[in-house]
Amino acid sequence: MLAILHPDTPLDSQAYRETMQFLENLPNVSVRVHEVQGTHQKLTEIYLLGETKTLDKDEIAALPAVERVIRISEDYRILGRHRDGQRQNGFSYNGVSFTQENLNVFAGLCAVDNQEHVDIMMRALSEHGQVCTRMGAYKPRTNPYSFQGHGKGCLPWVFETAGKYGIKVIAMEITHESHIEEIDQCLEKLGRPTGVMLQVGTRNTQNFELLKAIGRQKTYPVLLKRGFGITLNESLNAAEYLASEGNANVVFCLRGMKTEAGQPHRNMVDFAHVPTVKRLTRMPVCVDPSHSVGSRDRAPDGLLDVTHATAQGIIAGANMVLADFHPRPEKALVDGPQALQMSELPAFLADIQLCHDTWKKRQALYRKLEGNESE
Ligand code: PEP
Ligand code: MN
Repeated sequence: MLAILHPDTPLDSQAYRETMQFLENLPNVSVRVHEVQGTHQKLTEIYLLGETKTLDKDEIAALPAVERVIRISEDYRILGRHRDGQRQNGFSYNGVSFTQENLNVFAGLCAVDNQEHVDIMMRALSEHGQVCTRMGAYKPRTNPYSFQGHGKGCLPWVFETAGKYGIKVIAMEITHESHIEEIDQCLEKLGRPTGVMLQVGTRNTQNFELLKAIGRQKTYPVLLKRGFGITLNESLNAAEYLASEGNANVVFCLRGMKTEAGQPHRNMVDFAHVPTVKRLTRMPVCVDPSHSVGSRDRAPDGLLDVTHATAQGIIAGANMVLADFHPRPEKALVDGPQALQMSELPAFLADIQLCHDTWKKRQALYRKLEGNESE
């Protein structure tokens, strides 16, 4: 069971003390307090665990600090929606808001290779009003002899360049918990010119110790990729690991499933799950068309498969796009064949905006229909 307190309830108030005293004395029930910093207000959620079936929902709802009570199912206790349309979703980080309603684009380098490419990429983004990017420093590679990323060595110039161009959030995959410290120390030393969203790659979706370590810190939000060979439920449970350790600032990323059935795409594009994840959880949903499609194949209508997949995700309500770009794809050390070119950035951004606006219009269309039906 979940008791949501009135927004901005002070933890030293009489109402809070009385409420906690009652809840903490419930037999065979343990109490876990979870604070959610939303874009507008701070919410305190109190999870009641254990023998909660016989608890009287109305009695708890009547406690002085409690606004409302929700019976939650076992799945995704913190991140789940539990059929409650009013539950707050999303978070703000470094001045950028991430919700189930808005949209952020993270175009950038799959792997950081050299300073010149990072500079070209970030300059182009800032010229187009973008404040987010993706930059891979730690690369998990299938082949041990492939380029593994520059690691912590590139962080100073990547973060400084980001600061120079007003980039506020960099999605950066980490593959080991020591990378959190490396990123944190570097940002701190430089006076935090930018922010980082820690990315958990599809190969690590069920690396539970890594998830727990990332979940224990609250400084950095997380971009969790869906596991490429597990069920959606298993991947959503992986996200819940982060929240259960204390960090619920999680964006969930669809990136396609590994199956021969997806060919000729690199993975089977799974963006039909965008609305599903939003229905089941409160996480903003990201799509990664680059790793889903994995090529620059072009349809007869003149558009790349990767831009079509992007549009499909956004028109279904995706809140974030992660896309590989490169100033010289033929020279890229990782995933060059799927990278978009800098000259394609303006059209890509305009296409995304068009699709996001269309998603809003689609909602209006069906709302109108529902309105007519209820008349
Ligand atoms: C990536 O985004 O660079 C990446 C390695 O993706 P994934 O974990 O989805 O394969
Ligand atoms: Mn890649």
